Amino acid sequence: MTCSVGFKETNLLNELRAQSECIARKETLQATGITCLGQLDEGYFSAVRDLCRALESLMDDSGEPRWTAVRLEDTSLLWKIASFCKPHAGFLDPCFLRQQVKYISNVRLDPFEAYGDDIWAHPQLSSWIGAGKSSILLLQGSHDSRGRSGIFGAELADHIADTKKPVAYMVYKPTLPGSCRPPFPIEEAEVLRHLAIQALQTVADCTSVQVLTDLVESFSQAKTCADWFKVICDVFYLVSELYIIIDLGIHASSADAAKTWPSKFHTILEDVEAISPETIIRVMIISCRPLDVPQNSVNVSKIILRKPNVHPDLIRNRHSKQARIPPSLWQAYQPPKPRATQVEAPKSQDESPVLVNNHSPNGPANETAAQNNHIDMGVAGSVAKDCIEKPAHAREFTIAIFCALPIEADAVLSLFDAHWNQHDYSKAPGDDNCYSIGAIGRHNVVLVHIPSMGKSKAATASSQCRTTFTGIKLSLLVGICGGVPGEPGSEGERLLGDVVISEGLVQYDFGRQYPGFFKRKATVQESLSKLDAAVSSFLARLKTAEYTALLLKNTHHYLDALQSHPDEKRRLQYTHPGIENDSLYQPFYLHKHHEKSQCSSWEDDCGTLGGVCEEAIESNCDSLGCEYHQLIQRWRTQNFEKQGQERNLTIHIGKLASGDKVIKSGEDRDRVALEEKIIAFEMEGAGLWDHGPCMVIKSICDHADCHKSKRWQSYAAATAAACTKGILEQWG
Ligand SMILES: [Zn+2]
Ligand SMILES: [Zn+2]
Repeated sequence: MTCSVGFKETNLLNELRAQSECIARKETLQATGITCLGQLDEGYFSAVRDLCRALESLMDDSGEPRWTAVRLEDTSLLWKIASFCKPHAGFLDPCFLRQQVKYISNVRLDPFEAYGDDIWAHPQLSSWIGAGKSSILLLQGSHDSRGRSGIFGAELADHIADTKKPVAYMVYKPTLPGSCRPPFPIEEAEVLRHLAIQALQTVADCTSVQVLTDLVESFSQAKTCADWFKVICDVFYLVSELYIIIDLGIHASSADAAKTWPSKFHTILEDVEAISPETIIRVMIISCRPLDVPQNSVNVSKIILRKPNVHPDLIRNRHSKQARIPPSLWQAYQPPKPRATQVEAPKSQDESPVLVNNHSPNGPANETAAQNNHIDMGVAGSVAKDCIEKPAHAREFTIAIFCALPIEADAVLSLFDAHWNQHDYSKAPGDDNCYSIGAIGRHNVVLVHIPSMGKSKAATASSQCRTTFTGIKLSLLVGICGGVPGEPGSEGERLLGDVVISEGLVQYDFGRQYPGFFKRKATVQESLSKLDAAVSSFLARLKTAEYTALLLKNTHHYLDALQSHPDEKRRLQYTHPGIENDSLYQPFYLHKHHEKSQCSSWEDDCGTLGGVCEEAIESNCDSLGCEYHQLIQRWRTQNFEKQGQERNLTIHIGKLASGDKVIKSGEDRDRVALEEKIIAFEMEGAGLWDHGPCMVIKSICDHADCHKSKRWQSYAAATAAACTKGILEQWG
């Protein structure tokens, strides 16, 4: 080694040596989203070692480094090496960041922080997004609009990332109790460092070791905010276009930043423009404190959010965020499809009443569309089609489907492939059931309309059915149920609309309906008889990856068919209600009036520990103001694909609890679920279970807690019916 090697170069070599020595220690994953050096794969370390060797050999040859002779073989080395420069810990995992914005943009607003005005509608926003030169947009709210501006920042970051435009962002994340703590609030300097790293990640074509040397030098030296602003400025020279979104709410001390950051960025943008006028950097700074507009600035504009308006209609009408950016503005970009397109009227309804909704031309829906085109979505007066033969006698039917609610039966009926006249089969004496008779796929089926919910009605209906249809080999109980949400991130995490299939059934008896009502104890009475051998073998096969995938594919296909129902009202009912409406509250957090002024019997009910008034029971979470920070953060909702939401459907096989009372307590739910390993609660299975081979196929329409609403019932009924048809395809 010679003394002519510069300080910067030595620094780089030392850094490379230090980083390449890290291989052996695998550091544990942090919940903060920060990726540490030890978590990188071997590819990174060998690339660092190669680079180090290449540079060392050059220095050995000549006594002084000729850095230009070496190029980086992978441009990501630039930001990776820089982000691990001592004394810094690492970088925020881009997937983690993306998950966060997806999660935040789906967080429901606290109803008391309702919209005063629509941020997306501000003309300054359009100008900023489409600006042909570097510019800054300040979004100034107040503490009342904290959540609103925070969610907006995440929505915007998500949109820009969706369009594949380069974006760096540090957005505010509301902290939810029970969830692992986010890495915020963090030091101002650290915020700037992460922005610099993210900006570097967008640099696609730089392989210069000289640039790396400078970056390592500046990253390892930078300490103060002023230092990091300088680093950011250097990085900006390397990019051609970049969006930056910063929510100052993530700082421990945002007051100071609100005063100074706008002008700091303004100065940087001026510097960048002077040296590389082609570069376009658009910076958005969001704060709930007054933001100072730099003096003599032409490229800085500001939106001031109006005070929130708490009119409940505004809360309800909070329109779909997907529709907000005018399409003209994004031109070359690809904005996400507005969700509304899923329910648009079919174009050629008279010619082809079904399967108009083939979203994916290459997907499974299209392959099977032709052979399924004969599905008659209308119930009345249809005739037999294709291969299925109409049975001559009632005893020839082998499958009975039981539904307790009209919406459940409607969805199943819509998937009938043929309808037979019920008067062609005379009922046995004493059979009071009403049937819908027809065929699903190659099976002739009877649909038994159970007059109401509950075990005894189901048992009676089942017994009577077997007197008329004596050849029934399999009973399917199809419909909706309350789900056990399961651990976020685990295989058993269940979202609304997921389907559960019974692998066993236990009876429960809850002595109360609502938290605080009646007695507190819930008991599980007995385990019902073991699974029938044919059903249990069928489920064993269904659990294989092959058959699960087949069932999922077919379920999606039939769900598509239902969502293309010729009746517009039905189409709307079967549309996915939106993942943001799948709200899971902490089990102990009660659905009640949260303020004295709301409640007419505060002293007796809502104001007491565990007490809830009648009026609150009848109200929805929005009008009661159940707080969004009491929501449990869910892993699958964070990873939910925005388009084709129903594609995220999951089917769970496990033990169900069956009882006569609707369960409406998160605490009871979780306790029984834990003790009995239950995945869902339903009400009719116990009536059918001991009458012969039986499967319960139900879809989760609520979380079996006090916040339940009817919003998901129709969609859930549709997924259950679709899955049932998929099951029948595999049966027998
Ligand atoms: Zn009340
Ligand atoms: Zn609620």
